[in-house]
Amino acid sequence: MTWKTLDDMDLSGKRVLTRVDINVPVENGEVTDTTRIDRILPTVKDILAKGGLPVLVAHFGRPKGKVVPEMSLRQLLPALQKAFGQPVTFADGDYGAAVQAMQPGDILLLENIRFAPGEEKNDPDFAARLASLADIYCNDAFSAAHRAHASTEAVARLLPACAGRLMQAELSALEAALGTPKRPVVAVVGGAKVSTKLDLLGNLVAKVDHLVIGGGMANTFLYAQGHEIGTSLAEKDMAGTARDVLAKADATGCTIHLPKDIVVARAFAAEAPHETLPADACPEDAMILDAGPQTVAALEAVFGASKTLIWNGPLGAFELKPFDAATNRAADAAARLTAAGDLITVAGGGDTVAALNQAGAADRFTYISTAGGAFLEWMEGKTLPGVAALEG
Ligand code: ADP
Ligand code: MG
Repeated sequence: MTWKTLDDMDLSGKRVLTRVDINVPVENGEVTDTTRIDRILPTVKDILAKGGLPVLVAHFGRPKGKVVPEMSLRQLLPALQKAFGQPVTFADGDYGAAVQAMQPGDILLLENIRFAPGEEKNDPDFAARLASLADIYCNDAFSAAHRAHASTEAVARLLPACAGRLMQAELSALEAALGTPKRPVVAVVGGAKVSTKLDLLGNLVAKVDHLVIGGGMANTFLYAQGHEIGTSLAEKDMAGTARDVLAKADATGCTIHLPKDIVVARAFAAEAPHETLPADACPEDAMILDAGPQTVAALEAVFGASKTLIWNGPLGAFELKPFDAATNRAADAAARLTAAGDLITVAGGGDTVAALNQAGAADRFTYISTAGGAFLEWMEGKTLPGVAALEG
C-alpha cells in the first residue's frame, strides 16, 4: 500500500484543497471538545510552512444535501482561529472568487460540504467543480475515508493527491498493527454484541495469532459452548455464528481466549453486590458484567508474549464501577508493556477510547484512533474508498 504525503508534494504557491474532519461537538455555540480540530493542526501548519494555501473542506452534522443554517461551519471559526493562532476566512458563496483572493499565509474554510447534494452522491460534476478550486488535494480525514463522497473519493482522482499528517499517522499505525505487524499479534475484541462485530471477528481470526473475546460478546460465546449465562446480555441466536468463529480459528491456528472467571451481579447497576465465579458457573438469576482476575492474569501473559496488540471493545460494563476492573487492569498491563518498548498497542472505537481514557492508559498506547467507523471498517479488512483513491 503506498500513498503520497505532504513531503512528496511541491506546495509553494499552490492551492491545497484539504479535506479535514472538524465535526466537533457544539453546545450552546461552544465547542465542547476540540480534539478533532487539534489533530488537523500539523497538516494545516505544514501546508502553510511549505508556502501552500490551505482551502479547508469539511462536513458538519447530517444536513443531507440541503442548507441547514444551524449546521453552518461558520460557528466553528472562533475555535479554529484559536487553535491555528491566526484568522481564518470563510466562504459560503462564490468559492472561486474566495480562492482567487487568497494571499500567502491565508487559511480559507468552505461552508459545510454536505449542504451540496453532490457531496454524498460522489457526483463527478460536483467533484470536478471542487477540483477546479485547487492545484493539489490533501486528505486528512481518515475518519471520513470509509465513505465514497465527492470530497473524499472522486476529487482525489482529479488532482495530484496526498495524505495529510493525521491520515498518514492513522494509516501507518493501522498498517503496523494489521498490515505487516510484528508477531505474535493479539487482538482484543469486546463490547456489547457479536452481531455488530461479525466481520471484525472473521477478519481477525484469519490475521492474528491470539484473539481475546470479552465483554457482552464473550457471553454469547460462553452460551454457545453450553455454559449457563443467566440473565447476561447475549445474543443467543448468534450461538451458531460464535461456533463458526471458533471453528475458523481452529483452522487458521488462531488461539481464542475466552473468560476463565466472571464477575456476576443481580442488577445492571454501579456498585451492585457481586461475586467472582468460574466462567461455567453463572447462577441462573445473575448476569455477567466483567471478567475476573484469573482472566486478566491470563491476558497479561498473552500480552507479555506478543509484539503487537490491537484493541476494540471493553472487557466489561466499564461505565459501572467496579465492573471496569478487568478493562482497567488489562489496559494498564498493555500500557506498561508499551512503555517498556515490548509491545505496539493500537486501539479504537468510541467506547473503547472512553474506557482506555478512564483507565488512564490511552496516553500510553502507541496509537489511539479517533476515527470510529473508519477504524472498525479497517479492522474488518475492508477497502476504504478515501484511502484507495489516494493510492497509486
Ligand atoms: P466500541 O464503541 O468501542 O466499538 P461497543 O459499543 O461495541 O464498543 O461496546 C461497548 C459497550 O459494551 C459498553 O457500553 C459496555 O457497557 C458494554 N458491555 C461490555 N461488557 C458488557 C457486559 N458484560 N454486559 C453488558 N454490557 C457490556
Ligand atoms: Mg460503542
